[in-house]
Amino acid sequence: MNHMNKSTEYWQGLDRAHHLHPFTDAKSLNEKGVRVMTKADGVYLWDSEGNRVLDGMAGLWCVNLGYGRKELVDAAQRQMLELPFYNTFFQTSNIPATELAGLLAEVAPAGMKHAFFANSGSEAVDTAIRMVRRYWQAEGLPERNVIISRNNAYHGSSVAGACLGGMGAMHEQSGLMMPGFEHIMQPYWYQDGGDLSPEEFGLVAARALEERILAVGPEKVAAFIGEPIQGAGGVIVPPDSYWPEIQRICNQYGILLIADEVICGFGRTGNWFGSQTFGFTPDLMTMAKGMSSGYMPISAVMVGERVANTLIEKSGEFYHGYTYSGHPVAAAVAIENIRILKEERIIERVAEDTGPYFQEKLQIFAEHPLVGEVVGRGLVAGMVLVKDKKTRELYENGSDVGTMCRNHCFSNGLIMRACGDRMVLSPPLIISRAEIDEMLDKAKYCLDLAAKDLGKL
Ligand code: PMP
Repeated sequence: MNHMNKSTEYWQGLDRAHHLHPFTDAKSLNEKGVRVMTKADGVYLWDSEGNRVLDGMAGLWCVNLGYGRKELVDAAQRQMLELPFYNTFFQTSNIPATELAGLLAEVAPAGMKHAFFANSGSEAVDTAIRMVRRYWQAEGLPERNVIISRNNAYHGSSVAGACLGGMGAMHEQSGLMMPGFEHIMQPYWYQDGGDLSPEEFGLVAARALEERILAVGPEKVAAFIGEPIQGAGGVIVPPDSYWPEIQRICNQYGILLIADEVICGFGRTGNWFGSQTFGFTPDLMTMAKGMSSGYMPISAVMVGERVANTLIEKSGEFYHGYTYSGHPVAAAVAIENIRILKEERIIERVAEDTGPYFQEKLQIFAEHPLVGEVVGRGLVAGMVLVKDKKTRELYENGSDVGTMCRNHCFSNGLIMRACGDRMVLSPPLIISRAEIDEMLDKAKYCLDLAAKDLGKL
């Protein structure tokens, strides 16, 4: 392709002139110029300067099958030639959308038999919000409309998603916060657990839900939403006691439980869904990213029997949907993605082989002078950069420390993300043991550089 002959400066100039980037300080980016990614294969990316980088983040937690899977490309091409688009609104469907709904019902936990399609995680979350409110209206209890979420949760970037999530910086920029969303503490033992054991703290954090339900009034609460592991919040892994207690509380007050599986879904934690890893049964699951390994934008809400029965039998028309809900090309890619996950037993490999290998090797960081806790499940992990390991004291300028460490990674052939003061890894699920070794060796080298900068080594 002739555009490849143009220089990095050319692309940086064009980008600076015309492209506003998500979650980016445009001014400081313009001073530096973007890094232009040009191609990829397996777990590796190349930039326009010919540098090879190991993608420890699977794109944005999504390229689960890795780059360059021709089967996914062929599935898209076949479907584009056959039927590139038709909507699923007016009593019509298309074969990939229908087939994908059936496949999702097979891989989802028992009782989740219906899929509502959208294009992104944010749209899936918006769909879930609208769906639970519609559910309670159809049940004759329209005043049940409050949805409870957690501080430092990420549920997307739409107007509702920004308010529902628990990111303070997003709330500040939202201007008016939407009513109907409440936030409770997150289950972040390292930061907030004090002298409690993780298991005791897990119960305290879960019981914050019960306290809030009682404060708001159970008759007003529609649902609780949570990521099985908080992803963008920095891979916060809750203590094992947390989710069963959340489930108990939701059951006790008849509140719907939504698992936001946008990151955890499709094998990330060693099971199809994160809720299976943590042993709870949601009423709804939002999913995206790994559903198509990021090759096409597609997302869904999987709907359990309780909500599905009401939506089907009592709701009448649900005034909600997107032009591209059930897009045939995206659905065809998702079907192929699921076929490969199953046939190559990739999730089993994460559960039995690469996941345990990765988690065990990661423990080398537990000894590192700059690192506090190291936590994860399957092929996702986070570690916190700390000022004082003994007292668990965090840096006041934690995000700067994270960015510094992230920049070392970026310059040394590794993509590792900083979420504030937490460094996170979430590589493609097809990563091999040798590539895990390479990834963690690079991470260690870069953390050492950061520790030297901070006078800790
Ligand atoms: N929910 C969760 C848990 C996410 O991690 C994300 C994205 N990182 C979203 C929702 C939003 O997804 P999208 O960016 O595709 O809108």
